[in-house]
Amino acid sequence: MRESVTICKICDVPKRSGLHLMHAFICSDCEKEILQTSPEEERYQYYVDRLKVSSYQKQ
Ligand SMILES: [Zn+2]
Repeated sequence: MRESVTICKICDVPKRSGLHLMHAFICSDCEKEILQTSPEEERYQYYVDRLKVSSYQKQ
């Protein structure tokens, strides 16, 4: 079985482990970051924007 890497939509780094959310891949590191960020924080909006942009760019 070949291990495949997927590029994380948040940090743009190819990772093996993570989850697929809104047709985007989020690595486990970023997933943790997002979970630790509250929606009131500016950083949270950054993550949301990254995910939105990724879905528009997808062909
Ligand atoms: Zn990541």
